[in-house]
Amino acid sequence: MTLMEDSVGVGDLVLLEPLEEEPLLKNLQLRYENKEIYTYIGNVLISVNPYQQLPIYGPEFIAKYRDYTFYELKPHIYALANVAYQSLRDRDRDQCILITGESGAGKTEASKLVMSYVAAVCGKGEQVNSVKEQLLQSNPVLEAFGNAKTIRNNNSSRFGKYMDIEFDFKGSPLGGVITNYLLEKSRVVKQLEGERNFHIFYQLLAGADAHLLEALKLERDTSHYAYLNQKVSRVDGMDDASNFKSVQNAMTVIGFSETEIQQVLEVTALVLKLGNVELADESQANGISASGIRDERGVQEIGEMIGLNSEELEKALCSRTMKTAKEEVVTTLNFTQAQYARDALAKNIYSRLFNWIVNRINESIKVGSGEKKKVMGVLDIYGFEILEDNSFEQFVINYCNEKLQQVFIEMTLKEEQEEYKREGIPWTKVDYFDNGIICNLIEHNQQGILAMLDEECLRPGVVSDSTFLVKLNQVFSKHGYYESKVTQNAQRQYDHTMGLSCFRICHYAGKVTYNVNSFIDKNNDLLFRDLSQAMWKAQHPLLQSLFPEGVPTQTSLKRPPTAGAQFKSSVAILMKNLYSKNPNYIRCIKPNEHQQRGQFSSELVAVQTRYLGLLENVRVRRAGYAYRQRYGPFLERYRLLGRSTWPRWNGGDREGVEKVLGELSLSSEELAFGKTKIFIRSPKTLFYLEEKRHLR
Ligand code: ATP
Ligand code: MG
Repeated sequence: MTLMEDSVGVGDLVLLEPLEEEPLLKNLQLRYENKEIYTYIGNVLISVNPYQQLPIYGPEFIAKYRDYTFYELKPHIYALANVAYQSLRDRDRDQCILITGESGAGKTEASKLVMSYVAAVCGKGEQVNSVKEQLLQSNPVLEAFGNAKTIRNNNSSRFGKYMDIEFDFKGSPLGGVITNYLLEKSRVVKQLEGERNFHIFYQLLAGADAHLLEALKLERDTSHYAYLNQKVSRVDGMDDASNFKSVQNAMTVIGFSETEIQQVLEVTALVLKLGNVELADESQANGISASGIRDERGVQEIGEMIGLNSEELEKALCSRTMKTAKEEVVTTLNFTQAQYARDALAKNIYSRLFNWIVNRINESIKVGSGEKKKVMGVLDIYGFEILEDNSFEQFVINYCNEKLQQVFIEMTLKEEQEEYKREGIPWTKVDYFDNGIICNLIEHNQQGILAMLDEECLRPGVVSDSTFLVKLNQVFSKHGYYESKVTQNAQRQYDHTMGLSCFRICHYAGKVTYNVNSFIDKNNDLLFRDLSQAMWKAQHPLLQSLFPEGVPTQTSLKRPPTAGAQFKSSVAILMKNLYSKNPNYIRCIKPNEHQQRGQFSSELVAVQTRYLGLLENVRVRRAGYAYRQRYGPFLERYRLLGRSTWPRWNGGDREGVEKVLGELSLSSEELAFGKTKIFIRSPKTLFYLEEKRHLR
């Protein structure tokens, strides 16, 4: 079976005629309906979520794909994993696999398929197997703490993940490094209707044995906990109790000690208990507002669990100490502020716990720095997001995607150029949309939106989301990719869809309107010092280590970097890392909104193909020559079309190909003979060859 014989549509979109959106969608749909979920654009893999277990994975298929070259079998994720792994092992090129797509499109499943393929083909032996196990077992742990049921995906990753898997010179795995991005911590305290909190909370309550539950002083029933008290507590087909066992087991395999596991669960339980701390409005008749704890027992229980005097905790939750040069002033928090403080503490504890877990896994899978390594990076990160209400989170996620698109275009073009160079074929320049200007609008060191947000966060005086917006409007009044009510009015455009507190960015994937409300707050990401100091005072070793800034002797008031600045610098590190590697792309597509097998909504897929820039991708790929193939396989396929090459040909492969194509008198414009490959400019020529072949 080859690409061309694939009876359902074309297996490689570079062969698509005509190259337009509708035929592209039709092609994907036809394939999807025939359970062909994979399609190529050259070496890019498109994967449409089947929402069913297809019989195309497992040892038998792994064995098949490891023995064939890329185009010899049907498009498959194993083929891509195989190319990446082989070129890492045999050609000594570090690889990265970039998996993008929207929520529910199948990124995480794809990343696991890649990992399991590589694990199956790389190296043998006890030592190697134990490394493989550790690497694979990081998935259930990170999923338990970082995934949740959302409306779009029952197992949605609420963080971005990049994992470097490191190999020795023979291609056996040594270990790895995981980097995580931006956990959605607001979920800890609040979920949308129909969604859940992070899986681990439900797993713990359902799966802990009576003894553990007693030790953690937890109730089995999720409805007991305010932070879990939404309408859904179970997910169809998901067994929280048995997953809990798997997570415990995975942690042990990775190398967490029993004490560490226990402490992780204690901190997890602590978050649930904090959510149950009921606050009371204790404002006084004289107008002074204050808050207090409604039920002291809960706070006492928490205090006992984490080794902290409950009065300290109460004080930290209900008041705030302001330090000036001369004195300390303690003010009481009002009811709303106290609730905010409690929730902020819970979110902070959880997100720091998550970071700690990632670091702890890294400690276990770390490779000594002295060893020479080959690296395969796997990136599973949220795709472009346009929600009804877009806030700071969507802004940074879309910024990251803007950067990834930049890498994608640059690397695809570079790779094309390099291949032409290798093959000795002249390169003609390709026009494409360069999104550098949009990246700059966001990330420029002084005049970028992130820098201006930071400036506003640090500026003394009265700052607010609206002062930030006013600034943006001033600076970007003439920017071609920025819009707001103010800039629109200035240009006499009256757009009723744009709110007063919004700005809009024309991303490569489409326009997105962001509401500036709480940008300042989310970027600041500050936790009252009283709270971090209280946590640091707790006699719980893990909890204490999560709040290093709580050390009372620490007098420096240097503030930690803002959320935006942190994200920007981690994106910069990621980009540098990606640029140093050979990229392999998996573009995931969600076929419908209902997590249903067999349904293909063209409208929904159309939007995603635009976000993913698939047409642009095919265009770039086809700008020079749409199709290329090594002389050997090409000759094998088409030599029956030549008088001199059929039935026998004793010459070399290249000469044979020259003979066949020469005899067919194809236009020389259409062909280029590279060092090892034949290049064909338009798909039509290839179809012509195919047709002739079938007529024979
Ligand atoms: P998010 O951004 O929300 O994390 P995602 O892109 O990582 O989404 P996945 O969690 O990988 O999406 O996939 C969602 C669900 O789709 C999976 O839980 C699984 O049920 C199904 N699915 C995805 N890929 C496949 C596949 N190749 N075969 C079978 N089912 C799949
Ligand atoms: Mg995911």
